[in-house]
Amino acid sequence: MADALVPDWLSVPADANELVPSLWAQNVERRDGEIHVGDIGVRELARRFGTPLYVVDESDARTRAARIRSTLETAFDRVGTTCHVYYAGKAFLSIDVVRWMTEAGLRIDVCSGGELAVALASGADPAKIGFHGNNKSVAEIERAVEVGVGAIVLDSFTEIDRVAEAARAGGRFQPVRLRVNSGVHAHTHEFLATAHEDQKFGLPLAQVADAVARIRSAGSLEFLGLHCHIGSQIFDSGGFAESAARLLEAHAGLLAGGPVPELNLGGGFGIAYTDADDPVPLTETAQRIAEAVAAECERLGIPLPSMAFEPGRSIIGPTTFTLYTAGTVKPVVVGAGDGTAVRTYVSVDGGMSDNIRPALYGADYTVRIADRSSDADPALVRIAGKHCESGDIVVDADYLPSDVAAGDLLAVPVTGAYCWSLSSNYNYLGRPAVVAVRGHEARLMIRRETEADLLARDAGAREGEKA
Ligand code: PLP
Repeated sequence: MADALVPDWLSVPADANELVPSLWAQNVERRDGEIHVGDIGVRELARRFGTPLYVVDESDARTRAARIRSTLETAFDRVGTTCHVYYAGKAFLSIDVVRWMTEAGLRIDVCSGGELAVALASGADPAKIGFHGNNKSVAEIERAVEVGVGAIVLDSFTEIDRVAEAARAGGRFQPVRLRVNSGVHAHTHEFLATAHEDQKFGLPLAQVADAVARIRSAGSLEFLGLHCHIGSQIFDSGGFAESAARLLEAHAGLLAGGPVPELNLGGGFGIAYTDADDPVPLTETAQRIAEAVAAECERLGIPLPSMAFEPGRSIIGPTTFTLYTAGTVKPVVVGAGDGTAVRTYVSVDGGMSDNIRPALYGADYTVRIADRSSDADPALVRIAGKHCESGDIVVDADYLPSDVAAGDLLAVPVTGAYCWSLSSNYNYLGRPAVVAVRGHEARLMIRRETEADLLARDAGAREGEKA
């Protein structure tokens, strides 16, 4: 019975205090039992900023961004073309993050007026911003045109007309890309290649020629090239290569009607969330994609376009852990008769409002006691949140020292991507603070939401103030 509670990928650790290097940011380590980031221990972080808390290793974020950019640039330089790397802000965006990314030489990809506002507030060069979205409002489009974003990614015929009109009205010749649904969908270990894909983004390959003709005849749009994004958590190059081949076929056909300087293959490079995840290193993936693109261009007899990618998760995901305080520890007997086993539920002071990924996608995470190490034997635990929802699970299964107790600080690694950005106020919990640690400095990036924040938009509360 006990085994039935343990997922296939999980084994009893030799040491339930160990920080598996692939899951923790570069400057995180245990010192005298306590997890430190740079020179700062988690106890100090919890005391100064409270929990739950997203803790970002700033140096790691900067280093990863620069490394991923140069890995992709180098791979395409070797086959004879250039490559631009956009940071996909949807993974996690704040003014600081935009600055780290632009200082590391990346461009910024946004997908809403709000994300655009954050990028602009950081001082990012609008010409180095790409603007996505399958249903941008007219106001969002007008703002993007007005500030001069470097590329708007068009997602439909309706949007071609809307952006053309906004550019005309604004007296701009607006650079655009066309988002294409290549029929390739990739997720983690495998990719699916079909003629059509039943999803909302982009136009099918069969409509590319008509859409580009419409863009070219609009008179206010500059066509840069095709774009596609085949999915997330992709562990190897196969899906990218297949998708690139399909796009290049279409790209080649467009060259007769005018220039097509670029090809953008989106984001999606996978990362490890548990030690069972083993993504192919980006150096290999990038080289294989570059070689596949070069071979396809040679086969088609066309010049290599300038390339672009939009990684988000692979840059910011591993840089961050979430620090929680354990509130209750409850052994739960599972099964019946002789077939019973105990799973220990440890409830923390956050949950699905700061990390919805386990509930949304069945995502796996791991956990460690952060403020001490322990020699107690490992016990199977499930980390639950404090929300009124039985699916409010942060870590489905891992082992912690069996003396885990209320008041312990717990750290869940690899929460930098799609955690804060997908966070909510469910059950009226304030969203946690985000803190950046670099060397001996810990700096608040985004403050914790207060009760006053939670009430601020409630018209009833304002009525009460007036009375
Ligand atoms: N580009 C586009 C168009 C996307 O939709 C996404 C994610 O959904 C990304 C880039 C970033 O993907 P990832 O964070 O997996 O690299």
